[in-house]
Amino acid sequence: MDGPKLVRRWAAAALAVVICGWLSTLAPAAERVELVKAQRNGLPPPKAPEPEPAPAPPPPDCVRAKCVALTFDDGPAASTGELLDILAARHVKATFFLIGENAAEHPELVRREHEAGHELADHSYSHADLGRASEKKILSELTRTQDAIRRASGVTPVMLRPPYGSTSKRLTRITRDLGMAQVLWTVDPQDWESRDTEDVERQVLKAARPGHIVLMHDIHRTTVRAVPKIIDGLAARGYVFVTVSELFGGRLTPGKEYVQLNSGAPQGLP
Ligand SMILES: [Zn+2]
Repeated sequence: MDGPKLVRRWAAAALAVVICGWLSTLAPAAERVELVKAQRNGLPPPKAPEPEPAPAPPPPDCVRAKCVALTFDDGPAASTGELLDILAARHVKATFFLIGENAAEHPELVRREHEAGHELADHSYSHADLGRASEKKILSELTRTQDAIRRASGVTPVMLRPPYGSTSKRLTRITRDLGMAQVLWTVDPQDWESRDTEDVERQVLKAARPGHIVLMHDIHRTTVRAVPKIIDGLAARGYVFVTVSELFGGRLTPGKEYVQLNSGAPQGLP
């Protein structure tokens, strides 16, 4: 081997040592080997594998845990986006009882609710008094809402909250035939009337007990702005937040009325 060739080899070896030393400060061993191989072959460095998404934790057992279900009626509306940000920041899942005509107008918000893991449910198409409605009217109100929610999110709801809590034997039979449970509520801060953020916070924090369903309206910004303190206040008392179907262990009977979870058994209205 002649002199200049030897010098070039020594220089190449020295350069390799310097590069390896520099790489060792950047990447752990396995990745470093890949990087060096790629550099030798003139290839771009390999991409790190995508991390596997963590599996969702199982819902709590609400017979033992202090569960509360936050529910929001009458949306979606412009203020719903702000509520979704608040719920996401606190990792809280809620249940939305949607008005069909609002779901048809804001399908992107319905999709966002579903993709964030919230539960979607039916609150009639036009906020009708279903307890006084004819069979034809009930069927129209429910099926059009189901269609609007399904078109936006791919989900077919299995729960109805009749507007005003107004139900009837006819509605009970139709919801049973359509495979939908009727969900009412335990805590009502009358947020639609007061439109007072502090009053809504106070009412909910005062009345909420384990197994309760809290009724609020995400169409009012005054209510949406009460939600951070409601969540933080209840969480500080050891509550966990669940969707309505999680509250009842995922087993709701079509046609039946639910107002709260009591001693592990769903309790109907008197
Ligand atoms: Zn309503």
